[in-house]
Amino acid sequence: MSSIDQKLLEILHENKNKYVSGEDISNMLGVSRTAIWKHIKKYRDLGYEIESVTNRGYTIIKVPDRIIAEEIMIGLENKEIGNEIIVFDSIDSTNNKAKELARDKCKSGTVIVAEEQVAGRGRLGRKWHSPVGSGLWFSIVVRPDILPIKSPFLTISASLAVLDAVRCIVNEVCGKINNKNIKNKIKIKWPNDILFEEKKIAGILSEMSADMEQIKYGIIGIGINVNQDFFSEDIKDTATSLKKICYKKIDRIKLLKYVLNYFEGYYEKLIKGKENELLEKWKSNLNVIGEEVIIYSNKKTFYGKVIDISTQGELILQDKKNILHKFWAGDVSLRKT
Ligand code: ADP
Repeated sequence: MSSIDQKLLEILHENKNKYVSGEDISNMLGVSRTAIWKHIKKYRDLGYEIESVTNRGYTIIKVPDRIIAEEIMIGLENKEIGNEIIVFDSIDSTNNKAKELARDKCKSGTVIVAEEQVAGRGRLGRKWHSPVGSGLWFSIVVRPDILPIKSPFLTISASLAVLDAVRCIVNEVCGKINNKNIKNKIKIKWPNDILFEEKKIAGILSEMSADMEQIKYGIIGIGINVNQDFFSEDIKDTATSLKKICYKKIDRIKLLKYVLNYFEGYYEKLIKGKENELLEKWKSNLNVIGEEVIIYSNKKTFYGKVIDISTQGELILQDKKNILHKFWAGDVSLRKT
């Protein structure tokens, strides 16, 4: 992505509903008018409607519903998260690509987004449905200077960021009358999902490479159901999308920017050793504390009540014999009874 591409889009967006002359743009960007025309053509080919009128110039009429790196970058003032954004039309899994790039030493904060994942993954190799054009499927590579034992806080930070971003967009889209009710129904399901009325809107899959003392890199994969109208048979009773909640189409780029922005804030807290703050906020938004649940872990089934979350983010379950069990995310499935 060239900075000219991004600046050109910025100029067109800043001058929405007005025409900007090719000459003005070429002066602002310091390139020829022919070069400007080529960049405009590139965006038209991507689906932008950009009108050009002789003697007046260019104006942007419509932005396509498409993930475009420059659009995400515009107005994103993060220091680290999103400093590099790579977009694919189709990919096996953004986490796989992120891992490959992380091994090749990509920058911390790099974001990989795809319009479609053909082999999107949940935990333990479960399938994550990622149909083309309707959701946000992306991964963030980070290199946090924290001990590996603190790595669960990457998932915690990401789930808080998704929660905030989703609530924020719902607030904007659904309007003030409905939103309080709706907002209160959006919760975090321990350890890695965001639910609306018990149906999954988003899932998070964190992976990492570390030795005893150091995290080499962490990868936070995030999938958000944004504009799907239908779900396949296997998840139709357990999944929902923001469009189904709000009855309106959601701007995916805007939502993605919110997630990246909120994530940077939580990530900064984590780096500064403020994980207690993250934990408190996380606990207050979990939907399981005090609930009777079933936990499937390592082919065993546990029944009991969730009484707390440990300082490391583990779920503490009290069974019928009052014995306490601690579970961490990786190999556990949780259902409410
Ligand atoms: P679980 O939620 O069952 O503990 P995971 O957190 O690993 O497991 O998420 C994977 C599961 O999520 C899949 O097995 C499937 O049931 C469900 N799923 C897959 N894709 C989606 C999606 N786009 N939206 C909601 N749920 C999904």
